[in-house]
Amino acid sequence: MRYYENVVELIGNTPLVKLRNVTDPAGPTVLAKVEYLNPGGSVKDRIALRMVEAAERDGLLKQGGTIVEPTSGNTGVGLALVAQLKGYKCVFVCPDKVSEDKQNVLRAYGAEVVVCPTAVAPEDPRSYYNVSDRLAREIPGAWKPNQYSNPNNPLSHYEQTGPELWEQTDGRITHFVAGVGTGGTISGIGRYLKEVSQGRVKIIGADPEGSVYSGGTGRPYLVEGVGEDFWPETYDRTVCDEIIEVTDKESFAMTRRLAREEGLLVGGSCGMAAVAALKVAQRAEPGDVVVVLLPDGGRGYLSKLFNDDWMARYGFLRTDEHGATVGDIL
Ligand code: PMP
Repeated sequence: MRYYENVVELIGNTPLVKLRNVTDPAGPTVLAKVEYLNPGGSVKDRIALRMVEAAERDGLLKQGGTIVEPTSGNTGVGLALVAQLKGYKCVFVCPDKVSEDKQNVLRAYGAEVVVCPTAVAPEDPRSYYNVSDRLAREIPGAWKPNQYSNPNNPLSHYEQTGPELWEQTDGRITHFVAGVGTGGTISGIGRYLKEVSQGRVKIIGADPEGSVYSGGTGRPYLVEGVGEDFWPETYDRTVCDEIIEVTDKESFAMTRRLAREEGLLVGGSCGMAAVAALKVAQRAEPGDVVVVLLPDGGRGYLSKLFNDDWMARYGFLRTDEHGATVGDIL
């Protein structure tokens, strides 16, 4: 019989698939690393596992302990999945703007979700940063992974995702493109690929217009999971050769194309990274191999970027004089 002992063993070793229709057939090969095939549905399963195992080794997380983290999304799912298998409790703190569906996913895995008001300053005691700090102090045996400063976040990619890419491409990868949120993905994979290729592989970050990585001031944008209004410790500023700025409209248009033309139902930050990857491919040589990492699946965004009314409301889709949507702005 061929089987895995548990779901945690399914984390990582995700496949590469060639993008055939959104790419230029005369251009270089563009390969997508499909991270929604992780058991929790995103790249964040990788860091969750590594952060939990390191905390166990360091004695920060003990039998019966509780994981407390301010997260509403993919990191929460990864942590909940790993925690469940290892017998830890999870308390996630999220702002009230987070959709009920997302909160329910975390509850479905057995986590407790504490909802805080969005419309308060970060220093307000009710803010989700402060509530999670307080819970981490008050709950006995609590441990806070803090994905924005935990070195095991980039390390999981340095030790696993980076080597996977090098092996899967037989060392032929020439460019690596990924969106930047905590910076863990690009910093860990980028550092590994630079080292193993002696600096030959170019590392390109994709960033939403308005975020600090591409020189913005933290102006709001709609694409989720990427961009920041501060510089996290998990981002290594020496790794990226270039940062490409992508607008919400470009990101969402490409995300919809990935579903319709490549059969990849993925999230908005995947479209953002793909826009940057195609820009890189345009100026690369035909023999080059461009790899883009796609962090999560599209099901969590059905009522947003895959919904025509939502797209029209934000001006990403054309409407006629009666307000009816008449197709993509592409
Ligand atoms: N896309 C999505 C959907 C994410 O949740 C994240 C993680 N915040 C990223 C991209 C960026 O990854 P990283 O935090 O490793 O930079």
